[in-house]
Amino acid sequence: MTNWREKEAKYFLRAGRRMPLLTVRGEGSFLYDDTGKRYLDFFGGPATISLGHSHPVIVNALREQAQELIHVSNQFYSIPQIQLAELLIEHSVFDRVYFMNSGAEANEGALKLARKWGKEKKGGAYEIIAADNAFHGRTLQAVTAGGTERYKAPFGPLPPGFVHVPFNDAGAIKRATTPDTVAVFLEPIQGEGGINVPDDGYFKQVRAWCDERGILLILDEVQTGCGRTGRLFAYELFGIEPDIMTLGKGIGGGVPLSAFLAKEHAAVFTPGDHGTTYGGEPLMTRVGYEVMRYMIEQDLPARAAAKGKIIERRLHSLLDRCPHVTEVRGKGLMWAIEFSSDLGERVTNAALENGLIVNNVRPNAVRLTPPLTVSDEELEQGLAILEHVIERDAAPAK
Ligand SMILES: *Cc1c(COP(=O)(O)O)cnc(C)c1O
Repeated sequence: MTNWREKEAKYFLRAGRRMPLLTVRGEGSFLYDDTGKRYLDFFGGPATISLGHSHPVIVNALREQAQELIHVSNQFYSIPQIQLAELLIEHSVFDRVYFMNSGAEANEGALKLARKWGKEKKGGAYEIIAADNAFHGRTLQAVTAGGTERYKAPFGPLPPGFVHVPFNDAGAIKRATTPDTVAVFLEPIQGEGGINVPDDGYFKQVRAWCDERGILLILDEVQTGCGRTGRLFAYELFGIEPDIMTLGKGIGGGVPLSAFLAKEHAAVFTPGDHGTTYGGEPLMTRVGYEVMRYMIEQDLPARAAAKGKIIERRLHSLLDRCPHVTEVRGKGLMWAIEFSSDLGERVTNAALENGLIVNNVRPNAVRLTPPLTVSDEELEQGLAILEHVIERDAAPAK
C-alpha cells in the first residue's frame, strides 16, 4: 500500500496542517476514507460543498459542459457565464458582476474596484477600514486586509492603505475614518475568526455612516453568501445593501469559482482594468449556474434557516449542560461552539474517530458548516456524536 502520508511529508510544501484522513470519495453529507470508513461531513469544504458531495446537479453540469466547451478566453462571449451573471444580478441588489476563481481573487478585484472609485469619485481616497479577526484569503492584499498577524507577519513589506478596527464596533469605524478612507470592508459574520455574529443594528449603523461620509461598503460574503446563513446573501439578514459584495465557496458547490458584484455607481471599471485567464470559464460558471439555480428553486436558504433552528436548540441545551462550553453562536448552517479552554483540537479529533468531521476554527472553538442539503436525520445524528464527544471525551478532568 502506498504510504500517502509519508509521500505528502516528502513532497509537499509545509504550508498547512491536515487531518489524519485520506479521503477518496464523497456522497451527499458523507466523506469516505481509503479504508471505506464513512464520516458525516459537517466541515463541508469549509462551506464550499453547498449541495453536498458530488450532487447530481453538479456532476451532470460538469459532464454536459465538458462535452460542449470547457474553456474559452474572456475575449469571447460564452453562455453559462452570462446565464450565471443574470441569475446573480436578478436575485441580488447589484447591477454588475465579474467572475474569478477563488475568494481571495474576488476580494482583490473588489479592492481594486474600490481604489479606482476612490481615484475617480473621491479625490484619490484609498484607505480601507477592515476588522480585527477578519479573514479575506491569502494573497498579499487579502492577508493585509485580514486580521490575523500570523498570516501576514512573515511576508512584509505589506501593501499600504489598510487600517483595522474591532469587529462589531461602529464607533471604531467612525473614529478610524479620515478624508483618505475609500471603503469599509467586512464579513457580515466572521467565518474563520470563529463565527462572530454582530449585534443587531451594527450593519445599519455602518451603512448609515458610509452614506454620511460617501464611502463604499464592501461585504466579503465568500463564506456567508449563497444560502449559508439562511438567506441567499447575508446582507439580507441585516436589512442593508452593500455597494460591493464578493462571493466564493458555496457558489460553485466545490469547484473553483468566485465573483465580485457591484452597484452601478461603484462599477467604475473600463475595458482593460481587470482580467483573468480562467475566471468565468464555461465549465465553472455552468456549475455555478446550476448550483445557484437549484439553490433558488429549492429554496435552500429557507431550509438552511430551518435547520439552523435545530442546531441552535441542541447547542443551547449543550451550553446549559456543560460548564466547559462557554458560548454557542451562529446563523443558518454556520455555527461555532466555544470552550473555556483550548479544546478545539481534542474535540475535532475525537469527533473524527466517531465518524464526524468538524473544524477547530480557533484553538478554543469548533465550527460546523454542513452542506445546505443536510437532512434533519443527518443533522441530529451528527449533533448527537458531537454532544457525546464534548460531554465525554473533551470534558476536563474533574
Ligand atoms: C475562505 C474565505 C476567503 C478566501 O477564499 P479562497 O477561495 O480560499 O481564496 C475569503 N473570505 C472569506 C470570508 C472566506 O471565508
